[in-house]
Amino acid sequence: MKARLKQLASLALLPLAAATLVPAQAAEEVNIYSYRQAFLIKPMLDAFTEQTGIKANVLFAKDGLIERLENEAQNSQADLVLTADTGTLFDVVNRNLTQTVQSDVLNSNIPAQYRDPAHNWYALSARSRIVYASKERVQAGELKTYEELADPKWKGRICTRSGKHSYNLSLIGSMIAHHGEAGAEQWLEGVKANLARKPQGNDRAQVKAVKEGVCDLAIGNTYYYGKMLHNDKDPEQIEWANAVNLVFPNQADRGAHMNITGAAVAKYAPNKDNAVKLLEFLSDSKAQEMYAQINYEFPIKPGTPVTGLVKERMSNFKADTLSLATVAENRSKAAKLVDKVQFDN
Ligand code: FE
Repeated sequence: MKARLKQLASLALLPLAAATLVPAQAAEEVNIYSYRQAFLIKPMLDAFTEQTGIKANVLFAKDGLIERLENEAQNSQADLVLTADTGTLFDVVNRNLTQTVQSDVLNSNIPAQYRDPAHNWYALSARSRIVYASKERVQAGELKTYEELADPKWKGRICTRSGKHSYNLSLIGSMIAHHGEAGAEQWLEGVKANLARKPQGNDRAQVKAVKEGVCDLAIGNTYYYGKMLHNDKDPEQIEWANAVNLVFPNQADRGAHMNITGAAVAKYAPNKDNAVKLLEFLSDSKAQEMYAQINYEFPIKPGTPVTGLVKERMSNFKADTLSLATVAENRSKAAKLVDKVQFDN
């Protein structure tokens, strides 16, 4: 027993992935725990290093980084946590794994609805969760709202990934905010009844299914459109994107559902100053432009110029201004609704 405890203790104290993450004596560096895939942020991090000389080390994981931070506690080498959505960002803050940041740069670059009033978290880019509609089988204007996804006219015609995926939990969370729990449940039941197949795959797989005639409507995040349409490595995806029109729902009322990527400084950050410098860099014009150009995301810094595809196809829409905190709060209720209507079964 004693030996086992000792072993556990030494595991907990183990310097984190020394070989892969933290060089022994680098002078200036910042360690990032990232729920965002490394290749998506590497261009911004390279630009940061070039400008500041601060080396950015990334530890990417799809799951488990919050638990890792919790286990490492004050021994953690993490400086900054990057997340790919609202839910994870609020999780890391709510579990008391972050610290506040005072920065005039962040306060001026990031609009109030995209940062924590208590200064724990900051959004860095935005995206909308929209509907991809078959060019062949859905007429322009035929679907106008999220609510209409529950209309029996779409029976057997909708594809989506799991209802439990973070992106869908946020969307359902927004439906709870707008329609109450009972209203959202009824809606989700209607959408479930309209599914062409059991929820599966990622967002792009749903657009592929539209291309293949499996369904006519797919729920997905905006940036995947650009990622598919400009995919030289996998040109098949260009065909998927070319098979659909983008539908930004609820343009006549509250606007399309929004989600964000964001960041928070880790509670025990050994390089806090560098973490703040990186946050400021990511919120500023150069990186903000890159988010749009490279990742097809929406910059959150007002006035950031957007060009190309984002400008042509994904700007000029009405965005739902529902607070991110409300969406995050509703996520556990949303998960219960997904179970209750057996959305994924
Ligand atoms: Fe994504």
